[in-house]
Amino acid sequence: MARPRNCRRVGSMPESNYFKPRGIPLSVLEEVILNVDEFEAIRLADLEGLYQDRAAEKMKVSRQTFGRIIESGRKKVAEALVKGKALKIEGGEFQMALVRKFRCDDCEHSWELPYRTGRPENCPSCKSGNIHRAEQGTGYGRRFGRGQGSCCRGTQQKE
Ligand SMILES: [Zn+2]
Repeated sequence: MARPRNCRRVGSMPESNYFKPRGIPLSVLEEVILNVDEFEAIRLADLEGLYQDRAAEKMKVSRQTFGRIIESGRKKVAEALVKGKALKIEGGEFQMALVRKFRCDDCEHSWELPYRTGRPENCPSCKSGNIHRAEQGTGYGRRFGRGQGSCCRGTQQKE
């Protein structure tokens, strides 16, 4: 089995992981698989507009690696758009950035903070102190299957 070469840090999972052109039955629809790390590269560089070296830093990869990831990702997105294929986002070599989720009981605002930043005292939205830690969604690991977590955790100790 191929071992992942490096660990690509992903800050957020796609909200929707399947895009399909309207009017094409699933039986004849071709799929393009966009890996989660490619999705993240596109998000950082094309949506957030980060320079590639900054985006590479965020994903904890070299600039060259980032360049390859995003090139491959853009090509897949283009292929789906141009050829009318479905786009499925899953798998890839990545590890989720560790974040803690909080939720406000008063206004239902929820937000994320990286670890080691201390517990927030107020809701950033309504300033209420009535907040609690929300558990990280557990659905992703199964939904996005292979790739998740298998990258850094575990494989390092075996070597
Ligand atoms: Zn609030």
